[in-house]
Amino acid sequence: MGKRAKMIAKIKELMEKYDRIRNIGICAHIDHGKTTLSDNLLAGAGMISKELAGEQLALDFDEEEAQRGITIFAANVSMVHTYEGNEYLINLIDTPGHVDFGGDVTRAMRAIDGAIVVVCAVEGVMPQTETVLRQALRERVKPVLFINKVDRLINELKLTPEELQSRFIKIINDINNLIRKMAPEEFKDKWLVRVEDGSVAFGSAYNNWAISVPFMKKSGITFKDIIKYCEEDRQDELAEKAPLHEVVLDMVIKHLPSPPEAQKYRIPHLWKGDLNSEAGKAMLNCDPNGPLAGVITKIIVDKHAGAVSVCRLFSGRIKQGDEVYMVNNQQKAKIQQVSVFMGPERIPVDSISAGNICALVGLKEASAGETICSPDKIIEPFEAITHISEPVITVA
Ligand code: GDP
Repeated sequence: MGKRAKMIAKIKELMEKYDRIRNIGICAHIDHGKTTLSDNLLAGAGMISKELAGEQLALDFDEEEAQRGITIFAANVSMVHTYEGNEYLINLIDTPGHVDFGGDVTRAMRAIDGAIVVVCAVEGVMPQTETVLRQALRERVKPVLFINKVDRLINELKLTPEELQSRFIKIINDINNLIRKMAPEEFKDKWLVRVEDGSVAFGSAYNNWAISVPFMKKSGITFKDIIKYCEEDRQDELAEKAPLHEVVLDMVIKHLPSPPEAQKYRIPHLWKGDLNSEAGKAMLNCDPNGPLAGVITKIIVDKHAGAVSVCRLFSGRIKQGDEVYMVNNQQKAKIQQVSVFMGPERIPVDSISAGNICALVGLKEASAGETICSPDKIIEPFEAITHISEPVITVA
């Protein structure tokens, strides 16, 4: 079997093991490194060529926005990562970073269970960091922290180890203060990020390296080493010893919840139907054999397939040819194609089950925010989408 065929087979296998799935997003203030991180995670996990990621990033400087990184306009990209001997499927949903896309951010947050909050080490926590973190916490999306652009603290600002440390402590404290302030009551303490347990990582997305306390213990690499690699202009060697994707995706798998874990506390918040009903129980348990329930988070337009709906499935299973019901539209539609993502690409599959992010062709009248279910078992729609009242114009 070729590499591509093997990867397709692996994704098909993993999408049936819902505890091996992580649905995540990356949240950041503009320019803090979201695009660079997404592209380099994808390249590191072997889902796009490293050269392509580099090329896309190079375009960042002088081409139109539309040609930015490969992941930026993909509604979802998926990657496979091995952690402690087990393989995991990570779906990375694009969460728009600009405040005036408030509605889109909320919709994307609905589909994810965890978020990597990226903070630039030079600028620290900025207003938009607070806005996106608030959006995430409101949707009961658990955060981990990635402190980016550490290379700049060393090479440009020439901070001493003590100054570096106090800079990191300040960022971590700022984030934790926001979590304390904005997280749902039951998670105010549980969701704080901690250096010791590896829910905080540091690095340089651009130079492709990262470090966390668990990775330091495992690899023997110290902060002193990091400073040396940066000062001696040997960040490419550091990227081999402490690869960005390994450290960050290990953090994602260890600290962000699987769909069955997250749905237990997210469904009561996201869905106001009867939790003791058949559909309610199935969603709480992420049951692939329960009634169909899913939310469309985004519509993408494909050259060949036309409108493609990106959907998070909370229970049940969808297969090609199925008839589904769109609750807000009060319309039935026939599913023409069901796909999963491999990198930025869509791979048609026979069926897809609860906990996954899938792409559906056939829902012509669907719009983002739509609830889908089986025509025989119509469910309450997911709560109406509301926007955070910031001084922004929301595009609903
Ligand atoms: P986004 O707006 O959050 O998507 O940010 P980008 O990924 O586009 O990054 C903004 C700028 O910061 C780009 O010029 C990147 O090349 C640069 N950048 C991103 N990560 C790093 C890093 O770790 N170190 C340095 N020195 N520059 C970085």
